[in-house]
Amino acid sequence: MDPITEIRARVDILDLVRGYVEVKKVGRSYKALCPFHREKTPSFIISPEKQIAHCFGCGKGGDVFKFIMEVERVDFSEALHILADRAHIELKGMSPEKKDEKDKIYEVNQMAVEFFRRQLQEKGEVAQKYLEQRGFKAETLAEFNFGYAPDSFETTYQYLISKGFNKQEIVQAGLAVAKDVKATEIYDRFRHRLVLPIRNLRGETVGFTARLLDAQAKEAKYINTPETPLFHKGELIFNLDRAKEEIKKQDAVIITEGNLDAVTAWEFGIGNVVCTSGTALGPMQVKLLKRFTENFLFCFDADEAGIQATKRNLEVCFAGDVSPRVVVLPEKMGKDPDECLRKDSASFKQALAGAVHYLDFYFAEIKGRLNPLFLENKKKITQELLPVFRKISNAVERDLALEKLAEFLQIRREPLIVELQKIKAENLEPKTETTPLVRNHSRAEILVGLLVEYPDLLKLTLEKISDLILTDDFLNRCLKELQAKNKLEDLTEEEEQKIKILGLMIEDKYGKFGQDALVQEVDRLIGGIQKETLLQKRQSLIEELKNCAEDTEKSRQILEEYSRLIRSGDKVTES
Ligand SMILES: [Zn+2]
Repeated sequence: MDPITEIRARVDILDLVRGYVEVKKVGRSYKALCPFHREKTPSFIISPEKQIAHCFGCGKGGDVFKFIMEVERVDFSEALHILADRAHIELKGMSPEKKDEKDKIYEVNQMAVEFFRRQLQEKGEVAQKYLEQRGFKAETLAEFNFGYAPDSFETTYQYLISKGFNKQEIVQAGLAVAKDVKATEIYDRFRHRLVLPIRNLRGETVGFTARLLDAQAKEAKYINTPETPLFHKGELIFNLDRAKEEIKKQDAVIITEGNLDAVTAWEFGIGNVVCTSGTALGPMQVKLLKRFTENFLFCFDADEAGIQATKRNLEVCFAGDVSPRVVVLPEKMGKDPDECLRKDSASFKQALAGAVHYLDFYFAEIKGRLNPLFLENKKKITQELLPVFRKISNAVERDLALEKLAEFLQIRREPLIVELQKIKAENLEPKTETTPLVRNHSRAEILVGLLVEYPDLLKLTLEKISDLILTDDFLNRCLKELQAKNKLEDLTEEEEQKIKILGLMIEDKYGKFGQDALVQEVDRLIGGIQKETLLQKRQSLIEELKNCAEDTEKSRQILEEYSRLIRSGDKVTES
């Protein structure tokens, strides 16, 4: 079995969709609020029988592949990997038609990992010393593939060239910098730095983060691979590939600010740790983590910058419907998780276990600056916290936040609700990306859908549909084929999707109909289609008549035809 067929057989569309939205059983199918557009009544229908999900509001959805491509915004090959991962299917046997750009970049990166690693052993004295001072074990350095980028403008580049990669590939991977497109002058991006590979969810190296070793140099402390076809900063989470199983097992993820904090935590046996790499999580990253758990624990530096960074991250979580907790590092145990772990790992682990609810974090932090019991502070605190709590997308959570805030300030809850409503929602909520496009199905679509869904109906109505001609070529072909063979054959994949989606709509609309009611419905549809066809014919005859005003013989023929149509039209209406 090829991997695509195997994935289709092993990954259930309903299970898959359930990971993103809440579903409700309705008849043979399930309904959910569409994950692709904002709506109040569910128009997203999932059919386990047909193995498709489709939104009748915005038209998005499809089979498991299409769904993942749209919901995760990835291309087919990425979706294939995500689904293979889920189904525990190895993709090794797949031979890609051609080594594309991305594959080449993976290869360059992998070669660079090896090169940097050897450089660390052979020439990286300064880097080695730094790592020793930090106290990392040899196993940790090997596990994370720590390396050293030599103090040179072209050693890395020349090495990669000698291994058969070309200039374009090396520049595209972000390992070397070209001054401009045509420039012959090329230099290594990472020079005299400690380098740490950054891997994607599948454990493939997609880029690097590099730390300054020369404390005197006036350069950025960390530099990263720029955006490349593989390295999308907003979608990557450091160490998630190693930590994902443990995150699932513990149903919690610990998020640090610095990559090395995460490495240290890992060294101390904390397996469910990842890192934001110094910036706030983006919505895509929140979504990615939510695939594994909804319990986020932020464990940032104990200084003012760490507190501000924590706040930024919490707000991203609110929008992503996650209620995070905050780890408060024990006092006098160091400025960051790394220091704290090395000083006293037991009390660090205690702090993890005692992570506080985000509301308690906000209240404790503000209490250090403003006494909530002083009258003049109550308003200040409200002004600071309400805009933050307004971002909580879950209404129940938001309500809880107001209740706790009222308690904290020792005031009633009602005025807080009034103030909250004053904060304009429009500024906070992301714009809808898709314009809902509710489309009514034509009679012809419904008719074909009914006949496919209920083959019994076909026998009962065979005579009535024998003369019927549908204006849509595809639907007409379907109708004729159903008449002749009782089923549809030789559909293209796209056509098959169309039919499945029609089937979903039929289930939704006619699922509760008995056979008599269905036959009546088919009659009604056929009548409607015939009338439509007649009207169209009449319309075109009138047009023709206008064009042959001079030709009396032709006019006479057209008029005759027209009155014949009127007569048969009456017959249609009668039936
Ligand atoms: Zn939709």
